[in-house]
Amino acid sequence: MIDIEQVSNDQQTVTIRLQAEGVTRGGVKFPKKVYVKPLWSDEQGQQIINFCPGCYAIHNISRSQCHCQVNLHKVKLYADPIVERSYQALVAPRTITQSFEIIERMKGTTTVRGSSVQAKRVIFEQQRGYHILLQGQNNQFVFDALYDAPVQYSIPTKGIAWKLAEVVRQVLQDNNLCQRVGNIVVEGHHKELNEELVLHTASHLLHRAIAAVSGVNEQELEYWFNLTTPDTPSEIVVWERYEGGAGISEVFENVLRNNPVKVYRELLASVLCPVDLAENPNWISADDLSSELTQRWCLSPNDELVVRVVQEAAAERQLQSQQQNEEDRNMMCRPPQGHDGCPACIHTTYCTQRDDQDLNVSRLVGESILSCLVRRLSREEAEALINEAMTQHIAPPHILNAAPVQGEFDVLIL
Ligand SMILES: [Zn+2]
Ligand SMILES: [Zn+2]
Ligand SMILES: [Zn+2]
Repeated sequence: MIDIEQVSNDQQTVTIRLQAEGVTRGGVKFPKKVYVKPLWSDEQGQQIINFCPGCYAIHNISRSQCHCQVNLHKVKLYADPIVERSYQALVAPRTITQSFEIIERMKGTTTVRGSSVQAKRVIFEQQRGYHILLQGQNNQFVFDALYDAPVQYSIPTKGIAWKLAEVVRQVLQDNNLCQRVGNIVVEGHHKELNEELVLHTASHLLHRAIAAVSGVNEQELEYWFNLTTPDTPSEIVVWERYEGGAGISEVFENVLRNNPVKVYRELLASVLCPVDLAENPNWISADDLSSELTQRWCLSPNDELVVRVVQEAAAERQLQSQQQNEEDRNMMCRPPQGHDGCPACIHTTYCTQRDDQDLNVSRLVGESILSCLVRRLSREEAEALINEAMTQHIAPPHILNAAPVQGEFDVLIL
């Protein structure tokens, strides 16, 4: 149950109080038990409720006036939690490969500050028998509903850490990438290539890859990243939403050791976007695209990911060409018109900034991160890396392609 405390003067935020049992420490609430109050909505199942434009309180559908004497509006509410996370290793992480570690005991903490809310006015259409949204700015209320004290919960669990200091350094040095990302404008804001963009993008890559590799829903995992500080290099951690862990991290470790190409393929799957590829004018036949992807990512033409992506991109292009005549079609993913990422690639439903992903993650950056993981080396260099891994007792780099005659090896370094 939520009590409205106060609406700010600019109507941008409303302070709310969660009715819960639990302790409050350091201005943060740790709820043990939360009280809920049922709210009656419409009979059509559209979840329409009554909303007070004065004090932002919400009421049953049957009520017509707020206790503050203002007439109520019928609205549909869209709420996205405003979430921050943090994590703490409780034992020393164990190294798996050069950049991956497993944390066998850790604490994952989620802090919910409130929700960003849109209340959109609706009107009941007698003839159609359901509510429709009223258009126009006056008919929507956009605000943040923030708890008076943020709500926090922690679980002891297991997770996978990805050390990315070196990758971040390399990606940020790429001036061409910096320019391409900087040219993308999202609702008046220029996208900016910085450490946060790299780490947030990498978090999505890892979050989805762990889910795919271990066969669980993304919802069962949480991610967070730490920017570089004087004491700690940048890293990402993805942890299990199960107390004590449910074996997901171990499955991932196992695959990382025994089938690293599978991990590479799943990381790449968030970056090779069928929509972006369909919008790319640089290929004509599916064979062209296949050989381009094969070369660029050092995979075989029969690789399951390459085959799937080529098929999807060809189908998507067909679809786009059919729609081409309906006025000038806008690019969906490909910059500069597209926002460099879409739900078919780097965006996820479980993002901590779900509605702002256009600015906060980048498919191009994802590509650049993946490029850092594959290096073309001479035989001596490749052997030296493998020997080094042996002496450190970590899983060795994997050779994706070997051309022994030329003395060239494409090595996957995870
Ligand atoms: Zn009111
Ligand atoms: Zn995309
Ligand atoms: Zn995200």
